[in-house]
Amino acid sequence: MSIQTPPSPERADFIREIVAADLRDGRVRTIVTRFPPEPNGYLHIGHAKSICLNFGIAREFGGRCNLRFDDTNPAREEREYIDAIQADMRWLGFDWGENLYFASDYFQQLYGWAVHLIRAGKAYVDDLSADEIREYRGTLTEAGRNSPWRDRPVEESLELFEQMRQGAFPNGARVLRARIDMASPNVLLRDPVLYRIVHAAHPRTGDAWCIYPTYDFAHGQSDAIEGVTHSICTLEFEIHRPLYDWLIENLPVPSRPHQYEFARLNLTYTVLSKRVLLRLVNEGHVRGWDDPRMPTISGLRRRGFPAEGIRDFAAMIGVAKSDSVVEYGQLEHAVRDVLNRTALRRFAVLRPLRVVVENYPEGLMEEMEVRNNPEDPSAGTRKVPFTRELWIERDDFMEDPPPKFFRLSPGREVRLRSAYFVTCREVARDAAGEVAELRCTYDPATRGGDSPDGRRPKATLHWLSAAHALPAEVRLYDHLFSRPDPGADADLFADLDPASETVLRDCMVESSLVQVPVGETVQFERLGYFCPDQDSTPGRPVFNRTLTLRDSWARIQAQGRRGG
Ligand code: ATP
Ligand code: MG
Repeated sequence: MSIQTPPSPERADFIREIVAADLRDGRVRTIVTRFPPEPNGYLHIGHAKSICLNFGIAREFGGRCNLRFDDTNPAREEREYIDAIQADMRWLGFDWGENLYFASDYFQQLYGWAVHLIRAGKAYVDDLSADEIREYRGTLTEAGRNSPWRDRPVEESLELFEQMRQGAFPNGARVLRARIDMASPNVLLRDPVLYRIVHAAHPRTGDAWCIYPTYDFAHGQSDAIEGVTHSICTLEFEIHRPLYDWLIENLPVPSRPHQYEFARLNLTYTVLSKRVLLRLVNEGHVRGWDDPRMPTISGLRRRGFPAEGIRDFAAMIGVAKSDSVVEYGQLEHAVRDVLNRTALRRFAVLRPLRVVVENYPEGLMEEMEVRNNPEDPSAGTRKVPFTRELWIERDDFMEDPPPKFFRLSPGREVRLRSAYFVTCREVARDAAGEVAELRCTYDPATRGGDSPDGRRPKATLHWLSAAHALPAEVRLYDHLFSRPDPGADADLFADLDPASETVLRDCMVESSLVQVPVGETVQFERLGYFCPDQDSTPGRPVFNRTLTLRDSWARIQAQGRRGG
């Protein structure tokens, strides 16, 4: 697999070309697509790609997109997931209107079609065990063998299938198989299983059924019932397509859908598999499905990624026919693009260092006017209190600075954003010898952050009035996995990065930040984008770092352009 370079956004992909041609040539009148999640976990960014594709095509071509739950496996599916999937899709900005469906609504119809196949001699009840079926199936180079039950009389299969449904047999005792070709070069056509016995309560149908259709038997027929015209799925289903078509051809279905396959999303530093994500949650490696490090929609939301950024990312990566890996930096780039435009700027100090402005009058408080977003003049300004005792970032001071460090150090003058120029005069230490406080002076002529004599300090720092700032917890996030290709060498879980979350408990933030609602992302000036976390309490706000300000992907792109 190769690292993908982004296609130009205006390029129509091969699926949209097929759709346009089908409409132009009159093969299809109204486009119907569907997004078919299995409710066995939360949606992730890969699903977002599929959602944007299916809903996007429906919207662009004046058709509709159904949300259909592929709920055919009661052992792993839960109501919680059904609800979470819908909430996540709405948050992403998609609406299916009346078109909410469940494969389980079609169980009776699918059962009828299974009986139809048995009557036509195209399906049979097999008594082989799962292991035996596997053994009889053959290999890629070797034909399979017929089951001894393959030629049992139609009446006997009908009778046994009915008994399977009545609950006469335990799990795994028998299955219903299509009768296609045990010598087919496509292993999936070697008499695939259509129904299996599963004694488990279903989230929607309860105990009504103890036999359940397989993915292959449910999917295409559900598409046909709903009048889906373009059934779009990921590449691993390409080899299922002949079976998809065989079932549609051999059943009296009301419409004839076609399956098309596109490359699934793979992202560096990320695992997109519900099975793995479920393990991360169950084994306590993360705070839950919505942990800000998870690639789930709910995790990205909690992290502060705006829905628009996720949709822009999907548009930016496009849709291709062969697998590739997308740089995580591309997702960050799309998100920064939105946040840079929309996020309000605020002051916060993550590792506070006290500054006393010795020549500033005690008891005085001035309100400094600070811009809310330099990218958006309509966002206006706000007043930030300035007093004699301030917090600055500990990293913004060095007692013995190396040549390229231009921020505060003894004897040096810096600008405090939108306030005054200050000069460090003295360093106070605590008993352990650590820098505890800086004694500074300010130049009253520089109010607002400009000097009448044209003096221009090399650094501008953010700051907070110690008397007005509020304490907060800030959680810094990095990739959950420490390498771009997690699990490539060994156990995936060995590549988890224990430093992917850093909790800072002694931060200080501007008091206006307590009004920012969960779900809104702001920029802490000079530090990055941050959003309030749901763990916030009235007395103690908690913020998640969404992203840092640095955009390495933009730099890579710029270098690429310069290099030709
Ligand atoms: P996972 O592999 O994460 O368990 P899944 O394919 O089993 O996912 P489904 O609920 O069956 O999950 O997926 C619903 C739809 O989303 C399917 O059409 C599937 O093809 C698509 N999809 C799943 N993963 C990706 C991905 N990484 N990129 C694009 N589409 C995806
Ligand atoms: Mg699937």
